[in-house]
Amino acid sequence: MLFRNVKGHPGASVAIGVLASRARVADLFGCKKEELGWLVKSCAEHPVQPVVVDGPAPCQEVVHLAGDPDFDLNRLIPAPTNTPVDAGPYITLGMCYATHPDTGLSDVTIHRMCIQSKDELSIFLQPGSRHIGAMAERATELGQPLPISVSIGVDPAIEVLSCFEPPTTPLGFNELSIAGALRQRPVELVKCVSINEHAIANAEYVIEGEILPGSNHVVEDQNSHTGYAMPEFPGYNGPASHECWLLKVKAVTHRRNPIMQTCIGPSEEHVNMAGIPTEASILTMIDKALPGKVVNCYSHRAGGGKYMAVLQCRKTVHTDEGKQRQAALLAFSAFPELKHVILVDEDVDIFDTNDMLWAMNTRFQGDRDIITIPGVRCHPLDPSSSPDYSPSIPDVGVSCKTIFDCTVPFHLKDRFKRAPFLDVDPERWLHG
Ligand code: MN
Repeated sequence: MLFRNVKGHPGASVAIGVLASRARVADLFGCKKEELGWLVKSCAEHPVQPVVVDGPAPCQEVVHLAGDPDFDLNRLIPAPTNTPVDAGPYITLGMCYATHPDTGLSDVTIHRMCIQSKDELSIFLQPGSRHIGAMAERATELGQPLPISVSIGVDPAIEVLSCFEPPTTPLGFNELSIAGALRQRPVELVKCVSINEHAIANAEYVIEGEILPGSNHVVEDQNSHTGYAMPEFPGYNGPASHECWLLKVKAVTHRRNPIMQTCIGPSEEHVNMAGIPTEASILTMIDKALPGKVVNCYSHRAGGGKYMAVLQCRKTVHTDEGKQRQAALLAFSAFPELKHVILVDEDVDIFDTNDMLWAMNTRFQGDRDIITIPGVRCHPLDPSSSPDYSPSIPDVGVSCKTIFDCTVPFHLKDRFKRAPFLDVDPERWLHG
């Protein structure tokens, strides 16, 4: 949806849901929707580094400096407040770009940011994260601010592929290089106007600023006092953090008649951004360890793209029995926030939930096909992942990872052939 008439923001538009369809993302990426995980896997294996172009870039057609007398983020950025209990207006699709103070290596990651005053944003960096959070912590140790650019409204390849996480993209792996691989053309960066950092040249908006050292005690709902941040991808309102970092804004640049792009947490859009890189990470790990044994992977929308993966497994010889469970263990290693893995055979359509649940109803017995791995660090936004939910959970964010093995035991394969239609060769069905 594109909103062209935004109160208080003449000349600007707001777009939401651009990536909220897997088929549309596949069109934008130039493949079929079933192929996205494999395509993106190959992009991560053949990175094309970004390049710096001369300014001023399209994102710098209009420049507002924080020293200007009327500078006010609320007036400059049409950031939506989506629910009555949100902490404030949120920037949810900002490509945060920063450089490690020691290594000089850059990273792009999406973080939630709330407008707190005319030149201040709160930015939530998961403690212990291996991306920009690690850079802010290191800059704090050195007593320095961390320059950061926030590019909004960019190529969808950048938006989806910036969501890769370790171990596929460890600290120092610039995810812009994966977007470059997809386009077979480097992402173009431009020097910022007010800080020593780069921004994405073709963005609609860029916010330039610094994360202040040791500032990670900003109360996210200091203006609203609701106790909540914003709706998060698991479908609940996320709690307001008391440990946000302070992003002091130095400038806002944008195109003429800019489009503010946004998304909300509980959405198919989040599923695609979080899920497609997750599929690629899982396929990368499994393809190395068990080549040919997993045909495809889907980060199911019911898990927001993070909590649930469906693996389509291939068993061709008797020693393949059990490898499907090994594949599930590899999936957990490939993506630490994964909670549930559902294993199905290759005759099941993993993108069709009815087909997947059919497998669970006819190829699964709860007492022998559920494997539980309790007490593993998972993801804090799952509200059941909490000590008061179960004594088996020692801390918020610890979960019981579970495998649901809905594959047919190899030695019983003959009994589980789908009923044929008349166009099937009976000899082949009976003896093939
Ligand atoms: Mn990153």
